[in-house]
Amino acid sequence: MIKVIKRAEWGAKPPNGRFTQMHSPEGVIVHHSADPFRRSSGAVQQIQIDHQSWGWVDVGYNFLITEVGEICEGRPEVDGLPAIGSYSSGADSRRIGICLLGNFQEGHDHVDKDQLAALVKLCRWCAIHYSIQSLLISGHRDHRTTACPGDQLYRLLDSVRADVLPTDSPTDSPIDEAVQSLMEAGPEIHIGDYPAALWALYDCCFSVLEHLGATGLPLSRR
Ligand SMILES: [Zn+2]
Repeated sequence: MIKVIKRAEWGAKPPNGRFTQMHSPEGVIVHHSADPFRRSSGAVQQIQIDHQSWGWVDVGYNFLITEVGEICEGRPEVDGLPAIGSYSSGADSRRIGICLLGNFQEGHDHVDKDQLAALVKLCRWCAIHYSIQSLLISGHRDHRTTACPGDQLYRLLDSVRADVLPTDSPTDSPIDEAVQSLMEAGPEIHIGDYPAALWALYDCCFSVLEHLGATGLPLSRR
């Protein structure tokens, strides 16, 4: 289960054109914004302004992760598949762009643990949501000459790969994740707070149905 801050919530401007659907996503490309200001939604807005000023349709990434681990929607999906981003030449056509806000070259920002945990969670979600059996995780520098995503973040990608288990692993199914979040929510649930418990149970049931491929059912999340 991931919470994504939608474009309307962070104040996105309209795109300057149409998005192109990514037909067969195979992995993700990790970026950093190389920018010191990174906590507020204003940072995401500024990135969109910059990228559109370069003649791009919109912000170049599919997702952006703030310093505190909030996941923001970048380019929206096109008919249930990611939109092709703009950043890494041909590699963008099959890989989802994820940008961690901050400058992770030596001597600048440090990667926050919440931000890194959000990256792992988002990678797992991408693998499950887009049915990618072995999600490829690369840094921008693996595809073209650039310092991105910064030496510090690039060094952490091996641990990210290790943490993003294969989607067919029994410990990585959306059901396990939903049950785990339900159990974790347990101590927070008190008499008089049934709605929270019911929503947690609802999310859990939805994940089970989703996992079983019952996607045609007339259900929606809260
Ligand atoms: Zn990059």
